[in-house]
Amino acid sequence: MSAGYLNNKFDVIVVGAGHAGCEAALSAARLGCNVLLCSLNLDNIALQPCNPAIGGPAKSTLVREIDALGGVMGEVADATYIQMKTLNSSKGPAVRALRAQSDKKEYTQYMRHILESTPNIWLKQCCITGLREKDGVITGAVDEYGIEYSCRAVILTTGTSLEGKLFIGLQSYPGGRLGEMPAIGLSGWLREHGIQTKKLKTGTPARVDKRTIDYSKMTVQPGDDKLSFYSYKPNRPVRKQVPCYLTRTNEDTHNIIRANLDKSPMYQGLIQGVGPRYCPSIEDKIVRFASNPSHHIFIEPEGLNTYEVYIQGFSTSLPACVQVEMIRSLPGLENAHIIKPAYAVEYDYVPAIQTQHSLMSKDIKGLFFAGQINGTSGYEEAAAQGLIAGINAVNYINSSDMLELPRSSSYIGTLIDDLVTKDIQEPYRMLTSRSEYRLLLRQDNADERLTELGHKIGLIDDEQFNRFKTKQENIQKEMTRLKETKVPATDEVNSILAKYEEHIDRGMRLSELLKRPNINYEIFKELDEKTRNLDLSEDITGEVEVLIKYDGYLKRQEQQVETAEKLEKYKIPDNIDYSKIKHISTETREKLEKVRPQNLAQASRIGGVKPADISVLMVMLKG
Ligand SMILES: Cc1cc2nc3c(=O)[nH]c(=O)nc-3n(C[C@H](O)[C@H](O)[C@H](O)COP(=O)(O)OP(=O)(O)OC[C@H]3O[C@@H](n4cnc5c(N)ncnc54)[C@H](O)[C@@H]3O)c2cc1C
Repeated sequence: MSAGYLNNKFDVIVVGAGHAGCEAALSAARLGCNVLLCSLNLDNIALQPCNPAIGGPAKSTLVREIDALGGVMGEVADATYIQMKTLNSSKGPAVRALRAQSDKKEYTQYMRHILESTPNIWLKQCCITGLREKDGVITGAVDEYGIEYSCRAVILTTGTSLEGKLFIGLQSYPGGRLGEMPAIGLSGWLREHGIQTKKLKTGTPARVDKRTIDYSKMTVQPGDDKLSFYSYKPNRPVRKQVPCYLTRTNEDTHNIIRANLDKSPMYQGLIQGVGPRYCPSIEDKIVRFASNPSHHIFIEPEGLNTYEVYIQGFSTSLPACVQVEMIRSLPGLENAHIIKPAYAVEYDYVPAIQTQHSLMSKDIKGLFFAGQINGTSGYEEAAAQGLIAGINAVNYINSSDMLELPRSSSYIGTLIDDLVTKDIQEPYRMLTSRSEYRLLLRQDNADERLTELGHKIGLIDDEQFNRFKTKQENIQKEMTRLKETKVPATDEVNSILAKYEEHIDRGMRLSELLKRPNINYEIFKELDEKTRNLDLSEDITGEVEVLIKYDGYLKRQEQQVETAEKLEKYKIPDNIDYSKIKHISTETREKLEKVRPQNLAQASRIGGVKPADISVLMVMLKG
């Protein structure tokens, strides 16, 4: 254990112990750095201030990728779930998604335990108000008490706290989250040092006392009987599960909201920041989708040992007294008691266009940004960036090559590329539609894509790596077996197939049969004694099924990757002077100047850059 703490000397300072900050601190410490992790309130480590759940579409893939690279979010979600559910299980593999309802308090405690049992992490409750730099290179940070810390890299993961302002109706308060002070000072320091900040907004619904809910008027939403987990580590705890419930808004709810829009800080222009398009407030939904007579509202427990229940889909910034009326208009919530009101928060973020793919600032060496401060929204997006920032802070300190994940490798790579390339103006949330390779980037094959890299980086130990290799070998063995095993076109076989509306006229290899939409692995157990006896785990059969059924689509996406990689080979020099390039449009020139892409592939993804201008650049870079 390093004694650098005695004179406030650290390798890395992580500002904020949220989802990004925890992954950043852990990866940097596990890779050998001495880390100071500061946060405004250490009882709120890895807090879920909105939905008490990890995962869902696209986000579950991020969690598996984090795990495959050696991060901890998956492990913590697995250890603290109160409901596990695979969403879209009847749909294609690209959109299947695991979702873990968390025990919010336990999640926080479990993460704190991991941090505290990691050598080289020093926790500190304080507000970092400024940084220290010399000639554009980070040298330290200072807290609210004037205590100076020296370091070689700083990772800012400040969430919604920077200059945060909470809104409940037309009242507003300084705050980063309900019950937590805002972080004042740091945004100013960034601006004084040439880093632009802008405002975004987000909101959360009220929490209600479960003893005042009539669940008999709602539809029960149970967890899965057959459990899936996030982490590839073997420890898979089977825990007590509790149900969620579904209710709906109605005409009364909508009328109350419409009648009170004049009390909304959003509609009165008090909030300037743009809110998350994919998580709109209920008043936004009523106004934007006026013809929709009803919206789904999910009732989700916040833990096993609390009465607090989260009202998903009902985020609002209307006044607290209006919130009571709104909530009591919902079936089953007629007598509801609100424990905590819904609120909106407006905060400073640092547009990530000022950041490199490594998540290091383009202007200040050793300064990294991760999570909500980069304009994202969501725990999983934050954790993914935190992990990469932590790894790269260590690479920076060791003068090693930065880790930059290509889009074709992962949702993490896609997320970071979008952030640093597209001039994002609203909270960015990961969606499957954001990836052009979503069939290749599935939650089920995150280990195949990233474990080797995690091992090479040093965050995946030999034991896990060997387990991964054995799994891959078993998948290959099984693929070969299916290609070599034929089922005969006998009456016995066809009578089994008839149950699934299938028939074969000739003997057929199992791999060929599996391509049929009605056929799955379970049916093979009826058809083939060897399949029955092998009793392979679902991790393996699921993967084999995807690889065989979607073979054609996967090959097409692999070709797409090859085409994109060709454009990546056209490197753009750092010192390129776009003003001297003739025959490109002014808009393209301005966008290129702003983003300063590293290669032609990145240039082609910038909104507003025209394909014809890419051709001009291609000719120029070739010559
Ligand atoms: C009201 C609200 C509503 C939300 N709604 C949604 C939603 O609808 N959908 C969604 O996906 N996500 C939502 N979120 C966002 C979600 O909470 C974040 O995306 C996620 O937690 C971001 O993780 P992070 O690590 O970047 O920051 P956070 O988890 O917010 O952690 C930041 C940490 O930094 C600390 N900190 C900040 N500044 C300093 C400083 N100067 N010195 C020391 N410590 C500091 C804070 O104390 C905090 O612990 C919401 C958040 C809030 C508060």
